[in-house]
Amino acid sequence: MLSISATRLTRRLTELSRFGGLPGGGVTRHCWGSAYEEARAWLLGEMRAAGLTTWVDGAGNVFGAIGADRFSAERPIVLTGSHIDTVPEGGTLDGALGVIAGLECLQTIVEAKATPRRPLAVAAWSDEEGRYGSLFGSRAFCKGIDPAQMPEMAAVDGEKLVDVMRRAGFDPARVPEAKAPAGAVASYVELHIEQGPRLEEAGVEIGIVQAIVGVRRSRFIFHGQADHAGTTPMPRRRDAFLGAAEYALRAREHVVTRGSDVSVTNIGVVYVHPGASNIVPGRVELVHEMRDPDPAVLERLWNECRDIAERIAGERQLRVEIRPTSATVPAPCSPNVQSAIEAVCGKLGFSTQRMYSAAGHDAQNLAAVTEAGMIFIPSVGGKSHRTDETSDPRAIERGTNVLLHTLLTIGA
Ligand SMILES: [Zn+2]
Repeated sequence: MLSISATRLTRRLTELSRFGGLPGGGVTRHCWGSAYEEARAWLLGEMRAAGLTTWVDGAGNVFGAIGADRFSAERPIVLTGSHIDTVPEGGTLDGALGVIAGLECLQTIVEAKATPRRPLAVAAWSDEEGRYGSLFGSRAFCKGIDPAQMPEMAAVDGEKLVDVMRRAGFDPARVPEAKAPAGAVASYVELHIEQGPRLEEAGVEIGIVQAIVGVRRSRFIFHGQADHAGTTPMPRRRDAFLGAAEYALRAREHVVTRGSDVSVTNIGVVYVHPGASNIVPGRVELVHEMRDPDPAVLERLWNECRDIAERIAGERQLRVEIRPTSATVPAPCSPNVQSAIEAVCGKLGFSTQRMYSAAGHDAQNLAAVTEAGMIFIPSVGGKSHRTDETSDPRAIERGTNVLLHTLLTIGA
């Protein structure tokens, strides 16, 4: 049975990790930055050397293909890929694995002259980590980006997308050209590290993703009354922080007890105004995030948490303002792609587990335009988005071989 070269795969992963590599391990490589642009040039070189036809679209997505030089409805492409940008102080595999493994699979196919009926391509999607806009490249490719929104897209530090794109030699006005014609992608399969502990703890070799969670984020602003923290009698205080604190505890309890067994929730942003120890907090803002693979559960939890916030505000003589800030819908993966992966694992003798992805991925955008699926390999200690993120080299090899045969099956 055809198999990939683990040596070449490791060599490329190591080389890629040097762009933006940190002295103590790990990588900082945000999209459009200088390390990213050097990595992009290196990747294009590796793709060409492997015998692939390459192109870069208006959103900065990089493609390397066999049997095609663009996307067209006449000749739909079986696509794989992931991203080569990282979070600040991120790891060497989140994203990089899916791109380098995809390249390795295509090169293996070229060398074995095993080209299937359908064209194949590997993508490196721009700004998956969303420094300037969440899942930017795959969103531009699948849904299109409204050019009117481009000037407002910026990083948290204020750096604007249009400026960094121009600096990297891209014309922001051409981003809309990245949208693929309808029917141009036959299927999409992405290999990724799990980024959580479930596969490792279960002792399972390959995860077959059934759905990617939806994420809902809302800003809750509790309004009370700023007052002197020494002279205002305790019963008269309308402390906005206490409302927010009570909400944090009750909302968490609610999601844990009333959500599905996989619902998760986090409050990671809190601002207290005016933020002085001698003033009763007059206003507190928090950002509440919830994730679940079932859209109905997510919707119900969101409505119930809103009621909890209103009730707390009423009880504490506060007012609460609730502004939804972002919402992605859970993306179900294609049953056909799932069974193709499962059949390949059966042939290769690897143990599998169906699971959902608790993190967002480019595959969720692709799921809106084609049959999409994901292959997960275990993350050592479940660690990700940190410099010591890693996977066993044998797990990397296994996952890449599963990707190879899945692409051959789907492309046949
Ligand atoms: Zn990723």
